[in-house]
Amino acid sequence: MPNFDLSEDHLAVEQMVRDFAAKEVAPHIQENDAKKHFDRSVLKKMAELNILGICVPEEYGGAGMDYVSLGLACEELEYVDTSLRVIMSVHVGLNSLSLLAWANEDQKQRYLVPQAKGEKISTYGLTEPNAGSDAVGIQTTAVKKGERYILNGEKQWISLAEVADNFLVIAWTDQEKKKNRDHSGLSAFIVERTFKGFESGAMTHKWGIKAGNTGWFKLSDVEVPEENLLAKEGEGFKIAMFSLDQGRYTVAAGATGLIRACLDESVKWAQERQTFGQPIGQHQLVKQMIANMARDYECSRLLWLKAGELKNQGKRNTKESSLAKWVSTVASEQAGSDAIQILGSYGYSDEYPVGRFWRNSKGGVIYEGTREIHTLMQADYALGYRVDKPTRISLPKYEKS
Ligand SMILES: Cc1cc2nc3c(=O)[nH]c(=O)nc-3n(C[C@H](O)[C@H](O)[C@H](O)COP(=O)(O)OP(=O)(O)OC[C@H]3O[C@@H](n4cnc5c(N)ncnc54)[C@H](O)[C@@H]3O)c2cc1C
Repeated sequence: MPNFDLSEDHLAVEQMVRDFAAKEVAPHIQENDAKKHFDRSVLKKMAELNILGICVPEEYGGAGMDYVSLGLACEELEYVDTSLRVIMSVHVGLNSLSLLAWANEDQKQRYLVPQAKGEKISTYGLTEPNAGSDAVGIQTTAVKKGERYILNGEKQWISLAEVADNFLVIAWTDQEKKKNRDHSGLSAFIVERTFKGFESGAMTHKWGIKAGNTGWFKLSDVEVPEENLLAKEGEGFKIAMFSLDQGRYTVAAGATGLIRACLDESVKWAQERQTFGQPIGQHQLVKQMIANMARDYECSRLLWLKAGELKNQGKRNTKESSLAKWVSTVASEQAGSDAIQILGSYGYSDEYPVGRFWRNSKGGVIYEGTREIHTLMQADYALGYRVDKPTRISLPKYEKS
């Protein structure tokens, strides 16, 4: 029988992150969201909690916890605001876990260790003005010149673009393969903000996750030392997809927290608000919306926990992480919409958080594989059109220290 109980360590990390988010973030989040203000001090506090390297082994500066702990932290953070979980998705999920698996020892010491300690912040740059879902459509190039690669291109919709120190950048190293859309011509690089020719800015017109930082960065003849090539030339696409397996997992756990936030606000309101002589929770149609949220919370949680357990065991989980991300984000969008419905006109204002929850939920069905991309993936697994092949590198299984 599978064991559905969380360990003492899990419960402790869950409680710690819950308390932190409630005390340090919740009191200011509505205001920060309204002002589109990213509070940089939150990074320092997250570093002090030791969650910016939560599942990175202690030998690389992390907290040495398992991958389920990463999911628990994400669920608790997004319960309060999506912008907090996004930090974990890009810094831990997409970037640091990719370094843990793919980087050489020198790169781990130079980049993973300070990232896991929270001394440096990192993110992931795949998306470009003309390519999101179609990753092979990116245009950024990396041309080898002596002991350096010269990078040129522009990335947009990058979380923490204005904040991060280190960027995992996907670019074409083989220009012939670029023409033929052959993804074995893509490579991955570690780029530092301080490299000459790097420039970044905010995307201020964003209407969700407004307390988070999202932006663009431009690479104009940026000289990247060859020591910053991650793994081998030509492995960029595999690394990008590997990163997404980890990032999607964090999005799934976070969206699960968002569903719970919608459920809690809805229950509170439904028990207090009276119409026709009784609390609205007594009306069957309101019960239906609440029941859906309760169902979706439990299903989403089981799905991300399963993906986390597979990660702990070192087993491939592309399918399970995609399923968890797809189900939980679609459900969180519905939960956000229904929470507004339950609060009626009050829900349609910034006086209550449910409008923010719904706006934030919409990001989850777009980034890290849109709803449609995950639908296609799951259909292809079911139809046998997609079978995951063994990879050269996989996420290290969890070893308790
Ligand atoms: C808040 C936010 C933060 C983000 N952070 C990052 C980040 O840190 N790093 C990063 O690299 N990117 C990031 N992104 C970008 C995100 O990953 C992309 O937006 C996403 O991959 C979708 O790409 P796109 O927006 O170009 O849409 P497109 O790929 O152009 O898709 C447009 C529409 O067409 C549909 N579609 C596309 N192809 C198909 C198909 N084959 N079949 C059916 N439907 C299809 C899509 O589902 C979608 O509905 C972020 C985005 C947001 C909104």
